[in-house]
Formats: sequence, C-alpha cells, structure tokens
Amino acid sequence: MSATTRRKLLIIEDMQATRMLVKGMLSKQGYEVLQAENGAEGVVLFEREHPDIVLMDVMMPVMDGFEACRRIRALDRAEGTPILMLTGAEDIEAIEQAFEAGATDFITKPINWALLTQRIRYALRGGQLVREVRQNRLRQASAQRIAQLGFWSWKPSDDSLEWSEDVAELLGQAPERIATLEALLPYVRADDRERVQREFRAAGTADLRLDLELRFAGSGGERIIRMIGERGVEGRDLDRFFGAVQNVTDSRRAEALVDYLALHDELTGLGNRRLFSQSIRRDLERLHLTNQGVLLVGWIDLSRFHRHNDMLGEAAGDTLLRQVAQRLRLQAVNGEIARVGGDEFAVLLHADDNAAALHRFGHLLDGLDHPFRVHDQETFLTCTAGAACFPDHGSDPEQLLTLAQEAQRQARSQGRRIVQSGEITAAVRTNTLDLERALRKALDKDEFHLVYQPQMDLRHGRIVGAEALLRWQHPERGLVSPVEFIPILEECGLITAVGAWVIEEACRQARQWELAGTPLRVGINLSARQFHDPALFDTIVTASGRSGVAAGSIELEITESLAMQNPEHAIELLKRLRKLGYKIAIDDFGIGYSSLEYLLRFPLDTIKIDRAFVHRITESQADRTIVRAITAMAQTLGLTTIAEGIEHLRQCDFIEALGVTEIQGYLIGRPMPPAELHRLLGTFARPGGS
Ligand code: C2E
Ligand code: MG
Ligand code: MG
Repeated sequence: MSATTRRKLLIIEDMQATRMLVKGMLSKQGYEVLQAENGAEGVVLFEREHPDIVLMDVMMPVMDGFEACRRIRALDRAEGTPILMLTGAEDIEAIEQAFEAGATDFITKPINWALLTQRIRYALRGGQLVREVRQNRLRQASAQRIAQLGFWSWKPSDDSLEWSEDVAELLGQAPERIATLEALLPYVRADDRERVQREFRAAGTADLRLDLELRFAGSGGERIIRMIGERGVEGRDLDRFFGAVQNVTDSRRAEALVDYLALHDELTGLGNRRLFSQSIRRDLERLHLTNQGVLLVGWIDLSRFHRHNDMLGEAAGDTLLRQVAQRLRLQAVNGEIARVGGDEFAVLLHADDNAAALHRFGHLLDGLDHPFRVHDQETFLTCTAGAACFPDHGSDPEQLLTLAQEAQRQARSQGRRIVQSGEITAAVRTNTLDLERALRKALDKDEFHLVYQPQMDLRHGRIVGAEALLRWQHPERGLVSPVEFIPILEECGLITAVGAWVIEEACRQARQWELAGTPLRVGINLSARQFHDPALFDTIVTASGRSGVAAGSIELEITESLAMQNPEHAIELLKRLRKLGYKIAIDDFGIGYSSLEYLLRFPLDTIKIDRAFVHRITESQADRTIVRAITAMAQTLGLTTIAEGIEHLRQCDFIEALGVTEIQGYLIGRPMPPAELHRLLGTFARPGGS
C-alpha cells in the first residue's frame, strides 16, 4: 500500500448523530469513512470493503457489537485489523466481553473527540506491527524449513543436550532420544564419532566456538548434519552452548555434483574446457622435463550443426553429438578430447614434430567423414579445425587454445578444413587493429548508445529493473556486438573511458525513469579492467550524484571470474559501494571458479543465473539441481535471483518452480531503447497470464 492511499475506517453505530460526527471529523483528516447502522450490516461491509480499522458500538439492534466483533475477527484472521469498541465508561463487564470477542482496544462514551484521532492512529500503527511481526515469523519459519534449520543447546557440566521441536524432521530421529551428547554418538557414523566427541569436549573446556559436520543415521538413511554453536547468549547463560543445526545433505550432494559438472560435459561425459586446460598444463610440464616432441592443441567446430538440430530434433542432435564424441575418443589414442562448446571439441595430441602432429590431427578428422546413424537415418557431418603447437606457437594452455580457436575461425572463413596457427595472424591482426582504431574515435563521434533489457519480478508479474547494454553503431560495419568489441576495449585500455560513459548515461536514464514516476533498478556491467581501476568508486559516486538518482536504483554487475581475480580487493570495494546503497549483482553465475559458499563472503544483493543453465532447464535434471542449489542458498541469505536468457514460457515455469525471483530474456523483451521500454512499462502484462 502506498503512503498516498487513503485509510479506510468503518464505523458501526446505530446513532446517526455519532456516525455523522465521526465521519465529519475523520474525513477531514484524510480517512475514507464507511458507515453501518448495525452489527449485521457492519459485517457485510467489512467483508466487502476490507477497511483498515473498525470503530464499533456495543449496544445495537439486529446484531450487537460483541457478536459483530467475533464475526469480523473470524473473517479477518490473518490480518489483525484493529477493532475499537465504544463502551460506557463504567461498564467493566462490557469491556472484558469486548476483549474476549477479539477487540483491540476500547473507547469510552461519551467520546473524547480530541483523543479519538490519536487512539485511531495508534491502533493503526499497532495493527501494522502485528502484521509485520506475523509476516516475519512466517517468513522465518519458511526460511528455516527451506534451510532445514533447527536449534540446540548443550550444557557441558551435566552433558545435557536440548533441541528445538522442529529438529525431529531434520534429524529423522525423535530429539527426546538424544538428550545427551553420549546419546547422540551412537547415531553418528563410526568414523566421525571420535572427532565429534573431541570437538565438543574441547569447546566445553576451552571457550571455543563449535562448527562441525557429522554424518547422522536418521530414519530413511544417513544425512549430513552441521552444528554451529557458541557459549552463552550475549554474555549470559555462560554454562551452556547455544547453536543452530542444519541438514546440509542436499547442498553437499549438489556441491559434489557441481564439482563434477565443473569439469565435465554432461551430455558426452567428456571433459570440459577447464579440465582440458588442466590436462594441457600437465602435459606441458612433462614436455618441459623431457624436452622431446611437440604437443598439438586442436579446435574442431562442426559446420552448421544447428541445421541437424532443426531437421532431426534436439534429442537426435544430442545423440549425434554423443556419437561424434565417441568417435573422436576412439581415434585419439594417447590423446585427449574435450567438449568446449555446443558443437565444438578440442583435441590434445603428442607427436615427434609439427608435421607429424598435424598429420595425426588430419587423420582424426577423417574419422568424422563417415556417415553417422541417428534414429535409423544416415547423416553426414563436416567440420573445420584449427591447430596450435607447443613449443612453436605458444607455451601456455589458454594461449594455445585461443590460437587454435582463432585458426579454426580462419579455416571457416577461408573455406578450408584445417588451418595451423601462424598461417593466420596477419589477417586477424589487421582486423583487430582496424577495430581498435575505430573504437578510439567512437566515443567522440557519439557512436555508442545504451539499450535496456527488462527484468520481471515473478511474484508480482511487474517489470522492476532493466540491464543497460552497450551498443556500438559503426558507420560501415553497422551494429557491432559487445562480445566482439569489449575485449578490444579492455586490451587497449579504452574500457575505463567508455565504462565511465556507460555509468554516467545509465544513471542519467535511471533518474529520468524516477522522475517519470516509473522507477526502475538499472543494472550496469563492469568489466575486469574497469573493476581494478582505482578511480571506479569515484566515477560511480560522482556520476550517480550528478544525476540525482537514488543509489538503490543502481545495480552493479560483476562476474564471478572478475571477483575472484583479487577477492580481497573486490570484497573491500563492494562493501564500500554497498554502504552507500548501491546494489551488487554477480553476473553469469554458474559453476565457475569458486564454490557457492566461498562467494557468500561477498557482499551481494543479487545472483544472475547464467543462461547456459536456463537453456536446457526443461530437459536437464543436472541443470535443475544446480539452479535449485543456487536458489536455496539465495533464499536463506535473502538474495534476489535473476534467471537470464528466458526465451520460452516453459522455461519460465520451471524457473519459477525452482524458486527464482526474477527473470530476464527475450520472453519479456529484447534489449531496447529507453523510450520503447517506457512504452512497454505502460502496457506490460505478464506473458502467459496469471
Ligand atoms: P551479460 O551481462 O550476461 O548480458 C546479457 C546478454 O544476453 C546480452 O547480450 C543480451 O542481449 C543477451 N540475452 C538476453 N536475453 C536473452 C535471451 O533470451 N536469449 C539469448 N540468446 N540471449 C539473451 P549482449 O547485449 O550482446 O551483451 C553481451 C555481454 O557483453 C554482456 O553479457 C556483458 O557481459 C557485456 N556488456 C554489454 N554491455 C556492457 C557494458 O556496458 N559494459 C561492460 N563492461 N560489458 C558489457
Ligand atoms: Mg550483465
Ligand atoms: Mg549475464
């Protein structure tokens, strides 16, 4: 309810004069006054109009005030709407009866008009508090349930252990049976017992904080239980430990899965780019020692693979990818294969020299020339490939991979099957140099602009935010994608200037929306170099100050890898920004570099779930598990989650069921100019109804 809506007051009173007086007086103070002549009429009006407060006489014809009060309470159970009863001053019995019927307070007749408005205001405030407390309690209870959280206390002197009621479900055992630490131990897995006992004893004798995990035999199987506790509560009850207990089985399992998925491709079972990069490093180290032979890193891209997907269906497309993986693996004896993109594979091969390595690579690709059989249909694939060799082309895993990928792109654009690194460089370099030259002038020539992509809150179906995305309109090339030019801006250091322009412009736009009465939270992307620029803090504060926008309307998006480059610096900077009210989002969040728990050390408001997980959410159980793990964690911490790249209603349904709070993607809207977004705000209806 906004502050400007008028409060509704219902007066139930048989004396017309009193009603008129109440109405006259309170209307002037901004209340909307509804009137009823007797209890029965009052109950009907209450149900229809949901007033914020009720003022009611006790003695009335048809239905008296006590009965009406009871019925209103029954209708109102969840809300706690204040009901003030008008009673005679001496009538103690009536006052008691009124409270029994559920009245909030009473006002004695004759009415003291000067005090009446005060009493009403207090009652309204009290009602609001009751509602808030109740809501908080509900929220807390559900947070506890979601987080599977309970409480315990332990007294070292007599070993007594007490639990909150709700732990029965969490432990899968009746807490009465575990009334001492001694009684707890038999339920703890044998391997863990000694450690648990030791840690409790140590905490009991010294003044240590307890934080331990144990495997616990609950009904229906073993679970992983975490117990955290401290001596006393705020310096009192120092003879006891008080703490929380949590069932962390699901998140530990999700983490194990996350760890596996962090290094593997689910579809083919091959390693992914990270694992591959580690393998290259391992082999390079070996080669450095022996100083013999070469290492070839190859990049393979299947040509127009999406056409197979379109023709055969996605399931068949998946089968085809598995067969490709299988065939490559069989061919790459002594080598290694990884899946490094949707239809991209990487190869690691050893040979005596470059020529031999290239020959083997070509032979491996020949294997893909034979037809594949999917669903009783013969299918042919073609591919293009690039190769880079140690020691000639590079000596670092990522460098070799990038060179191989560049070479592959070159092969594609030249219509060749394999290109070796080095053959290419001239052409690519000129291209990058051209772009860099053009970018240097782009800011002065006003070639940049921002578009905004809407973000919808799933609970209310409203657009609550927008991400600012940079666009470059090149005079000849047309619109160039940020994926292409941002890395170049980073490399040549221009990102600081362009980034400052983005911040300035996005703040100005956010302020415009505020002034237009449609405030939106605006997301601004920060790239690595920008983030490590010592002037960033001032740039943000100055730009937002100049525009006049509320800091809370600005959300800074950083990526996980960026935050991890120098976590201490990141945490410190983010804390300072957050103190001023800016919001912080972690972008493209997924199974990146760090575990979820590590990230929790960061001061965050929002997690943006990478579109890679959303993409296959309807089919992939693993992706759902990860998203669920992320949202469960976010819920416990009170963080907003935004799922990126939602294109279809079905993805939205899944995402909503998994507990995500907001979505962003083509389903709601593509990135668009601010005027268009403003029009959309006026006409927006949640896709798919509800
Ligand atoms: P991001 O921050 O993850 O932005 C989301 C990207 O996903 C945007 O691409 C957006 O157009 C795209 N997208 C949104 N919904 C959908 C969907 O439903 N399906 C699909 N397939 N894609 C969707 P865009 O605009 O090309 O930006 C790419 C990346 O460039 C951004 O990724 C961000 O990392 C970077 N970027 C964009 N603007 C800026 C900027 O001003 N500063 C910095 N440092 N980076 C920027
Ligand atoms: Mg972003
Ligand atoms: Mg993103």
